[in-house]
Amino acid sequence: MPHISEIDTYLHNIHINFSNLNIHFQIPKLFQSILSSYKQDRIDKLEQGGLLFGAHEENTYSVKRISEPNSFDKSTRFTIDRNKEIDNLLIKHEERNSAGTILYLGEWHTHPQDIPRISRQDQTMMKLMLKLSPLNPPRVFLAIQGTHELGVWTYDGKEITKLEWYRSTSRLSP
Ligand SMILES: [Zn+2]
Repeated sequence: MPHISEIDTYLHNIHINFSNLNIHFQIPKLFQSILSSYKQDRIDKLEQGGLLFGAHEENTYSVKRISEPNSFDKSTRFTIDRNKEIDNLLIKHEERNSAGTILYLGEWHTHPQDIPRISRQDQTMMKLMLKLSPLNPPRVFLAIQGTHELGVWTYDGKEITKLEWYRSTSRLSP
């Protein structure tokens, strides 16, 4: 089975926060470090990605688990084609094992750009991701790890909005 990263409650408390239009997205610093470990800072590093799972309370969405790249992924420098059956298994597994408290929030992947920009393909993908959203009303998040920054976008079925990182916690490590 693909690897799922989980961290303890204490480490969950150190978050990086992103926010816009009254939507708050929190990702534990430790997960950001894992995403950062896949950053495409060398020419031979391929695009990598995985799923984001978490919980939400009102407008605050907190990542509690992430999936890491697995051997079913088909990656190139600029694309990733993740196995949808594996994704669906992971989503069902997480929801069932958490009694519905840990839900699919979206996906993450890498871009070989300093400051990641959302591509047209990413925007199309977010529309497909929304169909998987267990939230009511549905909403999904896409985190893109660039070589210097992590960017987070959200989609609610109406518009795709970039969330701004804010400095309430530690600096993003380069
Ligand atoms: Zn992308």
